Amino acid sequence: MRRFRSIVLLIILTGATSPIFPQSPAHGIKNVFWQPNELQQGSVAFITVELDRVPRRVRGKWIGKDLAFFKSDNPKIWHALAGADLETQPGTYDLTVTAAMVGGRVVHSVKKVDIGAANFRSGALDVPENFVEPDAASKKQIEADGVLKNRTFSHFIAAPQWSGDFVTPVKAKPTDSCGMTRVFNEELSSTHRGTDFPVNEGAPVVVSNSGTVVLAKELFYEGNCVIVDHGQRLFTIYMHLSKIEVKVRDKLGKGERLGLSGQTGRVTGPHLHMGVRWNGAYLDPTKLLALTLPNLGPEKRRAATRARPASAIGRGEGVHPKTRLKLLKAASS
Ligand SMILES: [Zn+2]
Repeated sequence: MRRFRSIVLLIILTGATSPIFPQSPAHGIKNVFWQPNELQQGSVAFITVELDRVPRRVRGKWIGKDLAFFKSDNPKIWHALAGADLETQPGTYDLTVTAAMVGGRVVHSVKKVDIGAANFRSGALDVPENFVEPDAASKKQIEADGVLKNRTFSHFIAAPQWSGDFVTPVKAKPTDSCGMTRVFNEELSSTHRGTDFPVNEGAPVVVSNSGTVVLAKELFYEGNCVIVDHGQRLFTIYMHLSKIEVKVRDKLGKGERLGLSGQTGRVTGPHLHMGVRWNGAYLDPTKLLALTLPNLGPEKRRAATRARPASAIGRGEGVHPKTRLKLLKAASS
C-alpha cells in the first residue's frame, strides 16, 4: 500500500505520462546472454536477447559499435553476431541492449562483458622488399586498393544471409596465426588480421557461409582476393588465390566454390588466408568457425535480398548472378 502511494505521488510529482520505470530490465527485456561465455581479443560472440513481449525492434551497443539484432522464429527472442577486434584493449565493456516496444515504449538493459587478453604469437617473415618498401607505382596501387576496400566494406545488407555454422573454407586445419605480430624483413611490424590455412596451390576454396560477393579482384598485398558479405556488417575475406571463380554480386550458398588457393600478393608460400571483419573490427576466423549457430529459414534470406542495394559495389555485368555463376561453373568443370 505504501509503495502504491509513493508511485501515485511520483506520478503526481512528475506529471508523468511516460512509463514509470523505463530503465527497468524487468519491463520488457528478460535476459541477455552470449555464446561462448568467455570472450577474448578477436572473439566472435553470438548474443541472445529474451523479451517478455514482442518488440518492434532491438538494437545494441558494445565496445563502441552498433549491434543489429534479428528476430528468431520466436518473436520474443532476438540474436546478433558481434565481436571484439583483435586489438581491443582487454577489460570490461558495457553491452547495452535497447528494445523498442509496440506503443513506443523503449526499454534498456546493460550487462558487463569481460574481454580477456588473447595469447598471440609473434614471428619474423621474409618477403620481397617491394612489399615492405613499396615503390611509387605500388604505393599508388595500395592507395587505390584502400579506396576500393573502404567502399566494399561500406556495403550493407540489413538481414543476415548466413544460416547455421560457418564452415572451413579449405580441407586443412587452421594455424594459430591469427593476431600474430609479424616483423617483415626485420623492419615492418604488423598484426596478422586473419588465419592462414596451409594448402598447396590449386586447392578448391569454398565460401564459409551464404552471402553476396562484394569484391573479386587482384589487390597489391592480398593478391587475388574475394570478399563476401553475410549481412549485418559481417564479411569473410579470402586472399592469395591463384584463381577467382566468382564475380561481384554473385550470391553464393554455403560451401560453394569461389576459387583456387595460391600464392599471389604478399606471401612466403602457398596458403589460404581467411579474414573475418564485422562492423570495422577484425575477428579471429577460428572463433567464428567454432560457434554453433541456428539455421535461419529461407524467409530471412529472402528478406536479405530485399535490403538496400549496394551503391558501393562494382557494376553488374547485365547477366543474372545465378546465370553467370552457372556459366562460370560450366566453363571451369
Ligand atoms: Zn595471412
